[in-house]
Amino acid sequence: MGAEPIVVIGAGAAGVTAAIFAASTGRRVLLLERTRDGGRKILISGGGRCNVLPAEVDPARYVTESSPNTLRKMLLSWPLPEQREFFEREVGTRLALELETGKLFPASNKARDVRDSLYALAWRRGVEMRFDTSVEDVQPAGTEGSWRVRSTDQVEVAASSVIVATGGLSVPATGSDGTGLMIAKRLGHTLHPTYPALTPLLAAGAPHAPLAGVSLEVSIHAPARKNGVSARGGFLFTHRGYSGPAVLDVSHMAVRAEGRAAQPILVQWSLLDAAAWERTLAGASTGLVVTLLRRHLPDRLAGALLEEAGVPGDRSAAQLRRDERARLVETLTRYSLPWTGDEGYKKAEVTGGGVALGEVDPRTLESRVRPGLFLCGEILDAFGPIGGYNFLWAWATGRAAGRGAAAR
Ligand SMILES: Cc1cc2nc3c(=O)[nH]c(=O)nc-3n(C[C@H](O)[C@H](O)[C@H](O)COP(=O)(O)OP(=O)(O)OC[C@H]3O[C@@H](n4cnc5c(N)ncnc54)[C@H](O)[C@@H]3O)c2cc1C
Repeated sequence: MGAEPIVVIGAGAAGVTAAIFAASTGRRVLLLERTRDGGRKILISGGGRCNVLPAEVDPARYVTESSPNTLRKMLLSWPLPEQREFFEREVGTRLALELETGKLFPASNKARDVRDSLYALAWRRGVEMRFDTSVEDVQPAGTEGSWRVRSTDQVEVAASSVIVATGGLSVPATGSDGTGLMIAKRLGHTLHPTYPALTPLLAAGAPHAPLAGVSLEVSIHAPARKNGVSARGGFLFTHRGYSGPAVLDVSHMAVRAEGRAAQPILVQWSLLDAAAWERTLAGASTGLVVTLLRRHLPDRLAGALLEEAGVPGDRSAAQLRRDERARLVETLTRYSLPWTGDEGYKKAEVTGGGVALGEVDPRTLESRVRPGLFLCGEILDAFGPIGGYNFLWAWATGRAAGRGAAAR
C-alpha cells in the first residue's frame, strides 16, 4: 500500500461509489467533501424517495456531444442487474420496482437510507471522509504520478491519484458549483459547453396560470433538423410554465435553442393521435364536443383547449365545421407549447455538456490528458432522461474510476 492515498473529490453518488470501489482493493482512500454532510442530491432526488435505477436501460436515450459509442461503453461497463445486486447485497438497500413508471426506489421510499447506507459501506471499507473541505486546486506534484490537492483553507493533501467527482452546475445549493469543471479545464481538459438539463420551462405572461396544478400523461415531441427528442410521461402546469417528467426530458432542446421559434415543443395531450381523434369526432354525432374531450382530458384543460382552438363550447361534434375540426385536432395532438424560457440551473436535475468523453479511457475513466487523474459522474459530458438514468451513470462511472485508480 502506497503512503499517499487516492483522493476522491466530492461525496455525491459518483464520488462515494468511486471511494467504495477503490477502498475495496485495500488502498488508502480519502474522500473530500465541501458540504457539512454530503450526498445532498441523493437526499432530494426522486422527490425525497431517490429513484436509484431504472428497471431497464436504453443507452440511446442519453445525450452527449461526445461519441455515443464511448458513452455506451462507459454506461454498460456495470450491467444493470449487477448494480441492483450491489445495492441489495453490499449496500444493504432493498429496491422495489414502481410498476407504472419502471423506476426502482428503495423499499423504504427514503432517499436518506440510500445516502446513509452508501456512506456506511464506505466507512466499513475504510474510506476516510473529510467534510467542510472545499477543494480549489489540483496540481501534479514534481514526482512522477503524484498530486497535490489544495482546499480553500489552504490545507494541502498529497495524493497518489485523484478522482474528480464534483458534479456539474445544477442545484448549486447541493454543493456543485462547477469548481470541478474549472479544475479539469485548468488541467487541460476540453469542456463541451454546459447547460441546464431536465429543467422546467417558463412561459412569459403565464398564459396557462389558471391551469396551474393540472397534471396528466402526455406525449411530447421536440423536432430538430438532426435528432428530434420524444418523451411520454407526466406533464404539470405550473404558475410560471410547465414541468413534469415529459417536459423535463425534452427541456434541453428548448434550453439550447436560440429563441422560441427555433424550437417548437409539440404536445399530444392524450393517448389519441390525430387519426384517432378524427375517428372519435366523426363517430360522435350527438353531445357536446367538450363532453367528448373530457373523456380523455382533465375538465379544465378540455375547456381551455377548446377555447384556444376557437371552437365554441356549445358545438356538438356533428356541428363542427371542417376548419374547426382541423384546428381542434391540431390543438389536441400537435399543440405548440408557448414556452419562452427555462428555470435554469436552480431547478435543473442535471447539467448537459462537461468534460469530453473522448478524453478519458472508457474502461478506467483515467484522463488521457493527465494520467493519474480520473473523472466520473455528472462532470462528464452525458446525461440521461428522468427515471434513474442519471444515478445509473454516476454509479457506473464512479465504480470504473474507483477501480481504475486503485489498479494504477
Ligand atoms: C432535484 C433532483 C432530483 C433528482 N432525482 C434523481 C433521481 O431520482 N434519479 C436519478 O437517477 N437522478 C436524479 N437526479 C440527478 C442525480 O442527482 C445526479 O445525476 C447525480 O447526483 C450526480 O452525481 P455526482 O456524484 O456526479 O454529482 P453530485 O451529486 O452533484 O455530487 C457532487 C459532490 O461534490 C461536492 N463538491 C463539488 N465541488 C467540490 C469541491 N470543489 N470540493 C469538494 N467537494 C465538492 C458537492 O458538494 C457534492 O457533494 C436528481 C437531481 C436533482 C437536482
